[in-house]
Amino acid sequence: MRNRPTLESLGGKPRQADPLPVMEQFYTLQGEGAWAGAPAYFIRLAGCDVGCTWCDVKESWTIGEAQYQPVAALAAQAQASGAPRAVITGGEPALHDLTQLTAALHAAGIRTHIETAGVHPLSGTFDWVCFSPKKFAAPLDEYYERAHELKVVVYHESDLAWAEGHAQRCAPEVRLFLQPEWSRRGQMTPLLIRYVQAHPHWQLSIQTHKYLEIP
Ligand code: SF4
Repeated sequence: MRNRPTLESLGGKPRQADPLPVMEQFYTLQGEGAWAGAPAYFIRLAGCDVGCTWCDVKESWTIGEAQYQPVAALAAQAQASGAPRAVITGGEPALHDLTQLTAALHAAGIRTHIETAGVHPLSGTFDWVCFSPKKFAAPLDEYYERAHELKVVVYHESDLAWAEGHAQRCAPEVRLFLQPEWSRRGQMTPLLIRYVQAHPHWQLSIQTHKYLEIP
């Protein structure tokens, strides 16, 4: 397996809890997975060392000095939006120390969700963990216990056997989603519909925000 880049080689500072590098933040409706349709304040942190070839946010991989924002400001903006929950995403948000961000969001009365590939130890206190393993970097064992939701992006039919392997390692109550990779949705969506019908422990996840053209 290739050597993954470090935070510093991505342009960031050594791992820290405050300030954090932010690529974008916005209040929207969650588009995919278990919370699709629910209002959420998204905080997209900069920096990713996973390197998925089909990544649709490659601009999130690197970190710029000017992107660092104080955690208190992030929590204040989330609170001002009126959102009941915040989704910490990326990039790969678990690259960063999220203890202070999740504490500040909870202090503001906002529930905390994360979307992660699970390749770094999880820090912070999360009300919902969406674990989305990627073939490009092996996840840590702890995520099979921490996950509330397993979401596997399917690029090729062969990804289904790989997805089942992850599902078998999760607790029975974990919600299981298969999601067609966006550029392959024409081929994969009909396949996944048939697969979920035949394997009903899964649900189909669709990137509704892309169809609705919302962030
Ligand atoms: Fe892109 Fe997410 Fe993969 Fe990182 S983990 S390369 S942000 S799809």
